[in-house]
Amino acid sequence: MAGILFIVSAPSGSGKSTLVSHLRQQVGALEFSISWTTRAPRGGEQQDREYHFATRAEFEQHIAEGGFLEWASVYDNYYGTSLQALRDAESRGNDLLLDIDVQGALQVIEKFKESVSIFIIPPSPGVLESRLRQRSAAENMAVEEIIQRRLRQAKSEMGEIWKYKYAVLNDVLDEAVEKLRSVVLAERRRRGQPEKLLQAIAEPAAGLEPLAESCLTASLRSSQSSAGLREILQTFGVS
Ligand code: ADP
Ligand code: 5GP
Repeated sequence: MAGILFIVSAPSGSGKSTLVSHLRQQVGALEFSISWTTRAPRGGEQQDREYHFATRAEFEQHIAEGGFLEWASVYDNYYGTSLQALRDAESRGNDLLLDIDVQGALQVIEKFKESVSIFIIPPSPGVLESRLRQRSAAENMAVEEIIQRRLRQAKSEMGEIWKYKYAVLNDVLDEAVEKLRSVVLAERRRRGQPEKLLQAIAEPAAGLEPLAESCLTASLRSSQSSAGLREILQTFGVS
């Protein structure tokens, strides 16, 4: 695609949706892909606003027709990104952002080598657990088995971090949003799309590129200043 395809992905409860909703308020010309799902709407969710809610039969038909860029079975429901979302963003000249699970992200990374993949790191297994509990309590569905399953899955998903281009620690929310924003704006600048910078609602911060560079997984792996982050990864069993 002509625009940039951004993928934000992480284990459930890491804070993807929270970060993405803040980012969208700060950066223009960035479309958010509305996924298909077979799960039921929650709370105030509306058809075609948060998700395209579909039956399993409709979803499977869309798979058979080759209508998905990627799809995955996530905790017993299907989720998928329609190719139409990509075409729509492209026709409007916008970048597209996907908030998808790790299985789906790996498919997109493989298919679109030019995509910009960003892994969100939770601060520790304990914080991830408390975020999962806090969110489940807010949704009145604190089922212990669900939380334990997500924590187990998180540990294996964390091991995929090195396949992503960037990683952002989501500890202090404002700092994580700023890092995410720096990655989006630095990638636009790198690809020669300065006009989109003007559409950033907030002024691009000084030191944008160094901040984005500090989030590269390549530097996370080796640099002295990333020792703290590597310790966090070790708490999830990732080395
Ligand atoms: P995901 O989309 O990755 O599953 P959510 O965005 O739903 O995760 O976040 C999970 C929970 O953690 C929510 O209750 C959210 O309010 C909370 N949360 C997210 N980011 C932070 C943060 N930086 N500090 C504290 N709580 C956070
Ligand atoms: P939720 O049901 O909480 O909205 O989302 C559950 C998980 O599904 C989250 O990790 C979310 O990122 C992921 N997800 C949402 N849309 C898609 C999608 O289109 N494809 C894939 N693979 N995962 C998705």
